[in-house]
Amino acid sequence: MSGSFAEFLRTYERRVAPLNKEANEAFWAATTTGRPEEQERCVRASSALRRAHSDPGQFAALKSWQASGSVRDPLEARQLAILVRAYTEQQIPPETIEELARREQEIQGLFTSFRPLLEGRPASENDLGRVLVEERDAACRRAAWEASKSIGAEVAPRLLELAALRNRVARELGFRDYFALRLSVDELDESELFVLLGKLERATRRPFRRAKAELDRGLERRFGVGPEGLKPWHYADPFFQEAPPADTLDLDALFAGKDVVGMARDFYAGLGLPVDDILERSDLFERENKNQHAYCMDVDREGDVRVLANVRAEERWAGTMLHELGHAVYSKFHDRSLPFLLRDAAHMFTTEAVAMMMGRLTGEADWLVKLAGVGEKQAQDLAGALAARLRLGELLFVRWALVVVSFERELYRDPAQDLNGLWWSLVTRLQEVRPPEERRAPDYASKIHLGTVPVYYQNYLLGTLAASQIRAALPARAGAESGLAGDRGAGAFLRERVFGPGARYPWNELLRRTTGAPLGPKAFLRQFVG
Ligand SMILES: [Zn+2]
Repeated sequence: MSGSFAEFLRTYERRVAPLNKEANEAFWAATTTGRPEEQERCVRASSALRRAHSDPGQFAALKSWQASGSVRDPLEARQLAILVRAYTEQQIPPETIEELARREQEIQGLFTSFRPLLEGRPASENDLGRVLVEERDAACRRAAWEASKSIGAEVAPRLLELAALRNRVARELGFRDYFALRLSVDELDESELFVLLGKLERATRRPFRRAKAELDRGLERRFGVGPEGLKPWHYADPFFQEAPPADTLDLDALFAGKDVVGMARDFYAGLGLPVDDILERSDLFERENKNQHAYCMDVDREGDVRVLANVRAEERWAGTMLHELGHAVYSKFHDRSLPFLLRDAAHMFTTEAVAMMMGRLTGEADWLVKLAGVGEKQAQDLAGALAARLRLGELLFVRWALVVVSFERELYRDPAQDLNGLWWSLVTRLQEVRPPEERRAPDYASKIHLGTVPVYYQNYLLGTLAASQIRAALPARAGAESGLAGDRGAGAFLRERVFGPGARYPWNELLRRTTGAPLGPKAFLRQFVG
């Protein structure tokens, strides 16, 4: 390979930017329509994007530029580091790249179109969620919970084949297994990560246990059962990953009949980070054959940012819109003069952090008054219960996310082990929820992330910690009060210091620059554990 790295970069951008855009457009089309031809297009486009990083000659050149230390310009050096990691993962035959994409798409397709039967009728995830929130009858709850898991049996064999293939690829590339490969490619050090997660696990154990004991007492009263009678379906979502609605606090009532999209729009306008253009391009409401989740996508790194959601006038969707638009403003306000490769988040988890920081606001009285039209007096009365619920939600989520991360690490270490048993032993240890008797189903496989966004969940945990750390830093560093609602100073700070720099700094440097400290659990523990 002849020529300079600067030349390589110019060609790279011309070659890859259109492929990146097509892969995103195709994913958008597939998830908004569920059409097989769009899913096909999605496979082709994402394979093409992966193949664009597979040329061994280019990889060798990148590594030699890196080894020689000849690339001294900081922006170029950062792009070089990003490219070496991106190429590392794709040093595999094109047929394998194609096969990985096809198998992931197959699982994505199952989740997009699968509707389990509940009382003989196909049910959406929103329908099942409703039952688990509202239904008092244990048999109905059990049926909904089991229905929510039924996709697991469809997905599990495909997921296991895919995990084996991912491991084979990782080992051919010189990694212990796919888990190690992914972390390395995502610029995370496995031992540092697990030291941090271990601290978080220990620090949350007792507060979680206390919070759950209180929750369980409420559920025992509500359902008229003793401690032994509590089953996984008594919790309000299929994975016990969110705080159930409290009897004393009907948050959905605060949002019923309201325009939750408008609230989110007004909130971001108040930060000086307008999202009207994003909402215009978005696909926000439920439709048949449409992906039932929510995500945000930066289509072209030139301002075409969109959100997919299935909004209902409920607290959960109000929070989800705040969350997804948090990703969206992060992308929208990258400094456009940065090169293509750096017009991206510093890390997946730094954009998660911003999204989570925003998504939490529906649990804050100040936000409800300013944006959701809740009366001052009512909000004050609710403040204590809101804080308790938010705290419970964060603790539950941390324990749940630790299950997923621990499971995936083990899954790739040894995919042949008793994975059903492993799943429930982690759920029992970390979430303190016991499996139903005689449960022999691959419940792990009903979690979409394992198939379609593998080894990603640690980013939610790191994002959770970073969300608190960034929020805590706002008052001092942005010179702002920072309840966030209406705080233009905080908006400007986020735009200039977090969104603007894009990927020009490694994530821990970005955090040090923005918050004055490397990533740690302190701010999170102070905010939610006390
Ligand atoms: Zn997110």
